[in-house]
Amino acid sequence: MDLAVESLRAARTRADLRLAPGERLLAGGTWLFSEPQPGVTGLVDLTTLGWEPLERTRDGLRVAATCTVEQLAAHTPDPAWTAWPLVGACADALLMSFKVQGQATVGGNVAMALPAGAMTALLVALDAVAVVWTPDGGERRSAVADLVVGPGCTTLAPGEVLRAFDVPGHALRARAAVRQVSLTAVGRSASLVVARRDADGTVTLTVTAATPRPVQHRFASLPTSTQVSGVLAGLEWYDDVHGAPDWRRAVTTLLAHEVVEEVTA
Ligand SMILES: Cc1cc2nc3c(=O)[nH]c(=O)nc-3n(C[C@H](O)[C@H](O)[C@H](O)COP(=O)(O)OP(=O)(O)OC[C@H]3O[C@@H](n4cnc5c(N)ncnc54)[C@H](O)[C@@H]3O)c2cc1C
Repeated sequence: MDLAVESLRAARTRADLRLAPGERLLAGGTWLFSEPQPGVTGLVDLTTLGWEPLERTRDGLRVAATCTVEQLAAHTPDPAWTAWPLVGACADALLMSFKVQGQATVGGNVAMALPAGAMTALLVALDAVAVVWTPDGGERRSAVADLVVGPGCTTLAPGEVLRAFDVPGHALRARAAVRQVSLTAVGRSASLVVARRDADGTVTLTVTAATPRPVQHRFASLPTSTQVSGVLAGLEWYDDVHGAPDWRRAVTTLLAHEVVEEVTA
């Protein structure tokens, strides 16, 4: 939809990210242009900063906040990154046409903090750390698991900008399994569950979409079925049109046992 804004600024430097009253950061615009934005009088385009979408780091991968879902899914991974199939599965879990995937950014997905944010799920499952530019010109780092705190809520303070996500090599080289379920065939995720088994034997279980915020639990060694059930028993279940809490609890319990069995088999 058209937005009645008075200005559109193309950011070229970090200084351009200082927002005036009424201005909002624009990434892919797939959400911003999908509904009225009362109070928004100007947009500041992040994509003109020219951030490299994906960069190999000493031990892993840096995903720019402006990397699109399509660019991430099309990346050719290092052959040692056995967890990479998670990327395609999470990209597909988004309720998006290929046109939206080509515009929607990874940072925009995390900033939205929707329970069904599959890029958030992916990054949490891979222990990614968000690099956040602070308005004083500094930078802070936060695990994505801690950055998203509730539906539509993050720890981002006014003026803070998501710059990138650093994904560690140990997680990319892990064994991983993912399951996703929706109420309808191509509906929004009602539960998205990932298990990861690292080389040191640690098993990490990540639950999203079924809970108001991402939930992650680490088992030092292969968990028993009782231990998995114990972790799930303490969770708060999300309630919206995409699934009732008791149904989400039931399907998530089933899926969690499946993914843990898959990575520990
Ligand atoms: C058809 C359709 C299906 C969708 N399906 C899903 C779905 O299944 N799950 C889901 O989670 N979402 C879904 N969305 C919502 C949305 O498209 C995605 O969350 C998308 O990833 C948002 O990214 P964007 O780059 O388009 O963000 P934009 O629309 O540009 O911005 C979204 C918000 O994030 C802020 N923002 C963007 N980048 C940054 C940054 N780097 N730092 C700080 N703030 C920033 C913006 O200011 C804005 O408030 C869907 C949207 C459409 C149109």
